[in-house]
Amino acid sequence: MICFFDGKFLEVSEINLSPFDRGFLFADGVYESIRTYNGKLFRYEDHFNRLKRSLKEIKIDFENLNSLENIIYELIKKNEIKGEAIVYIQITRGSAIPRTHHFPTEQTSPTLFISVNELVENIKERENGVKVILQEDIRWIRCDIKSISLLPVVLANQKAKEENAVDAIFVRDGLITEGTHTNFFAVKDETVYTAPKSRMILEGITRKVVLEFCQKFKVDYREEFINKDDLKSFNEFFITSTTKEITPVITIDYWTINKGEIGKITKSLQSVFKKVAEDY
Ligand code: PLP
Repeated sequence: MICFFDGKFLEVSEINLSPFDRGFLFADGVYESIRTYNGKLFRYEDHFNRLKRSLKEIKIDFENLNSLENIIYELIKKNEIKGEAIVYIQITRGSAIPRTHHFPTEQTSPTLFISVNELVENIKERENGVKVILQEDIRWIRCDIKSISLLPVVLANQKAKEENAVDAIFVRDGLITEGTHTNFFAVKDETVYTAPKSRMILEGITRKVVLEFCQKFKVDYREEFINKDDLKSFNEFFITSTTKEITPVITIDYWTINKGEIGKITKSLQSVFKKVAEDY
């Protein structure tokens, strides 16, 4: 497997990461995941802008970002990816000795790491729907930054796995925020609901795409928090992300929705997405 690290294309075994890298010590960095359709990076501009924003919010200056897209395509080629690729990009503040909690006094050189893998599509999940569980949102309150500090996500997603669910949906002060690596949607009276853009959620690119579909096809939508106690007044649910696209939710904890049947609006949004992806 060839990765891009420290300005070079390297085999994983050739990568030398300093233990003083602030990503390793403090999770002082940000990341992005992008996938391809027909070999083309999906909504690259949106992912790129979100990465730039995350970097800005945590005050990492990274100047060589403009070559990123070409590097990614080169990396896909070098790894001879057959089918579609999933790309992981991580930028940390770089390495500095001694370890200090504040930013290093001397300018560090940020560490850029990129890996690509062949994407395994979750067709069954999309067709049949999935189970999710609810978990208390113990993350920080800057979830709008795509930070690599993901311990609450790791714990919640592990809990989901133990309960045969594909994701955990976070609940903060009684309100549904989002999944560990997905945005959460619910439908009631033909209106689509999802948590508003705020510091409590990551503005998913797939979320944005879904809301664009709603606008285009005149489906009413509201960016509003849903109260956990009101969940049962909704009759369709789905989660979205780069790899999950639009995945219907048929079970929340012990509640099976509509006898496990996927809702009408979810299905129609899925079919629009499929068409867009096929023609990309
Ligand atoms: N919310 C969180 C917390 C995430 O980590 C992700 C993706 O990793 C998403 C939502 C979905 O974002 P996207 O649709 O851009 O993949």
